[in-house]
Amino acid sequence: MRILKWKIKGITDDFTECGCCGRRGLKRTVALMPLDADGNEDGTAEDVAYYGTSCAAIALGWAQGKVTDTARAAQAEREERDAYARRMISLYAPVEFAPVRDQARVFYGRNGSLRDTGVKATEEVAKSLAEARETLADTTTGPARPSRIEDFHPYVVIFTRDGHIHLVRRLPEDKDERQKGAAAFLHHAEVIRGKLLIVAALDAEAARDVAYSDDLVREWNAKAWQDLHV
Ligand SMILES: [Zn+2]
Repeated sequence: MRILKWKIKGITDDFTECGCCGRRGLKRTVALMPLDADGNEDGTAEDVAYYGTSCAAIALGWAQGKVTDTARAAQAEREERDAYARRMISLYAPVEFAPVRDQARVFYGRNGSLRDTGVKATEEVAKSLAEARETLADTTTGPARPSRIEDFHPYVVIFTRDGHIHLVRRLPEDKDERQKGAAAFLHHAEVIRGKLLIVAALDAEAARDVAYSDDLVREWNAKAWQDLHV
């Protein structure tokens, strides 16, 4: 049986030089993690090699098409993990230093099935945040992504009358522009007889999640934003 020496971790246009043959100016490269004799990943982001598709195909003994498909799938998975990490940070970072009681209410509010199972909310929140920060700090296929409350952006979320999200839009960072934008959206919400919320989050998907959460999540979310911007 042939043992693969590499695992494809993703594809990136941030590295444009092939680490195998030295060819420069490539459109993109494939991120390859070395594997040990047992096929386990043997290293961290620093040990990842970036090969052009043809060199990666030779190194793996695969057809180029399979290399590209696998790399794109791996990259899509990374992006999904990033999106999940942004949601966790947008939800939990504002309550990170909240009283234990509030942290517990926020956590069990989202994870009702874990109530009374001995799972400690404070530990789970800390663990989720640590994992999310690690995910976004990973530089395998590009620079670290924003992960702090300071990196949150304001979003307007409009709900329809029956409680579905009608639209999510990022508001300008500038206070006056933001208020103007919010006023226009408030009018829109009134026209459809919906409800408007303004939340802070790392991206629009996360904003959606914060908007769907309970009042306590949104109170801490608003407080975190105000602490930084008033
Ligand atoms: Zn090469």
